Amino acid sequence: MSELEKYRKLLADRAAMLKNKKADLPPFRAVFTETDQVKSVTPSKETLARQLFRESQVQQIYEDLDQVEAALLRMDQGEYGLCSVCGGLIQPSRLQLLPATDVCLLCA
Ligand SMILES: [Zn+2]
Repeated sequence: MSELEKYRKLLADRAAMLKNKKADLPPFRAVFTETDQVKSVTPSKETLARQLFRESQVQQIYEDLDQVEAALLRMDQGEYGLCSVCGGLIQPSRLQLLPATDVCLLCA
């Protein structure tokens, strides 16, 4: 298996995992509707903290999935492993750690 195929598999696995997670989540709007429903009552600090944590988790999954899908797209376009800022090659050690990254160590 070539290096590229290895990364493609890593990214595809990660995309599948994130999609599963996303499917388990309520859509963005539903999260905010919950906030609206408690408007008349002052929510406890714990409720707010839990809600914020959950929203940040949702946000994180969406952002990760965007990044992974963008990386797969770059692979299809033959641009995978190239820094989107300086155009140089991204260090293999960096790709191993962050297969979805699109910037090299110097530009990060
Ligand atoms: Zn760079």
